[in-house]
Amino acid sequence: MASELHEARWWRPLGNGKLLCTLCPRLCEIPDGKAGFCFIRKNVDGRLVTLGYGKSTGFAVDPVEKKPLNHFLPGTGVLSFGTAGCNLGCKFCQNWDISKARIDDKRSEDGAPEDVVELALRSGCSAIAYTYNDPVIWAEYAIDIARVARDAGLKNIFVTAGYITAEARAEVYHYMDAANVDLKAFSEDFYRHVTLSHLEPVKETLVWLKRETEVWFEITTLLIPGLNDSDREIAEECDWIVSALGPDVPIHFTAYHPDFKMLDRPRTPASTLLRAREIALRAGCEYVYVGNVHDREGQTTVCPECGAALIRRDWHAIDSYRMNGNRCPECDSEIPGVFPRREDVKGEIRSSGGRWRVSLD
Ligand code: SF4
Repeated sequence: MASELHEARWWRPLGNGKLLCTLCPRLCEIPDGKAGFCFIRKNVDGRLVTLGYGKSTGFAVDPVEKKPLNHFLPGTGVLSFGTAGCNLGCKFCQNWDISKARIDDKRSEDGAPEDVVELALRSGCSAIAYTYNDPVIWAEYAIDIARVARDAGLKNIFVTAGYITAEARAEVYHYMDAANVDLKAFSEDFYRHVTLSHLEPVKETLVWLKRETEVWFEITTLLIPGLNDSDREIAEECDWIVSALGPDVPIHFTAYHPDFKMLDRPRTPASTLLRAREIALRAGCEYVYVGNVHDREGQTTVCPECGAALIRRDWHAIDSYRMNGNRCPECDSEIPGVFPRREDVKGEIRSSGGRWRVSLD
């Protein structure tokens, strides 16, 4: 059952009344009665508890393209939810109303893992997405749901900044089928000053996902004018992706809007996304997408062998779907990812305007 005082994993006592949380690289040392940086992991009488366990800030059915994932069950709906708090401190956070909230501040719905899975099945979803705030900080709850979901034939998607320790990630990703990992910039300076975290652990997570797991993953970089959108930085990021992860890892360049503590920067112009896409293609990235704008060309999956347009999209909707299983129908090249049967692809899943809000009731 959901509980406000669910004992956390990944911690140990330091012997001075403090507990060391080893879930994320922040490695908070937490005194009795206090919570860590993320607000939801708290030292209660010498034990670490996770206050977010069993508490969702609301459920929605989203198109999987909104996560964003373009090569994982495209054209299907995923049950999406988050809790409160976050282990990063991004000044531009686009979900700050929940990431910066304490769980007590949010109107939350209690949901045992079985209830969440039942809701996903009832809503016709292909997967459950742990998203909105970073699910790393409520990994215990995500794992417990994912285990039940897998038994029920559902997939599990982790939407994350990838800021997690080696100790925790093996256990967490054991239950995940796909991930979208934010690579928020390609400079330590940006990570340190704008996200209050560090770049290197994120790179380590990405390399580990590629080399040590079967988890399908795609990368998202939110481009912020003047902060992480220079030609040089984008080229360095793409060169690293190609050499460390391979050319076939999809990358999404998405548009920022002013939010939270960063209201002094303009929205990302579409031309910046196009420029980033061209740099990535020149670097050898084979699947490069733009997001948060209408751009059919920048959202189309193209066969890198023969140039055939395989999946045409407009924002999160699919206009045409020509995949033959995992293969290009023109030249029979294999396209990396997990693709559904053609009859399971819905073109019209849109989560706009709360139309797809769903509830456990
Ligand atoms: S998960 Fe939360 S409490 Fe644990 S180290 Fe990270 S920020 Fe600190």
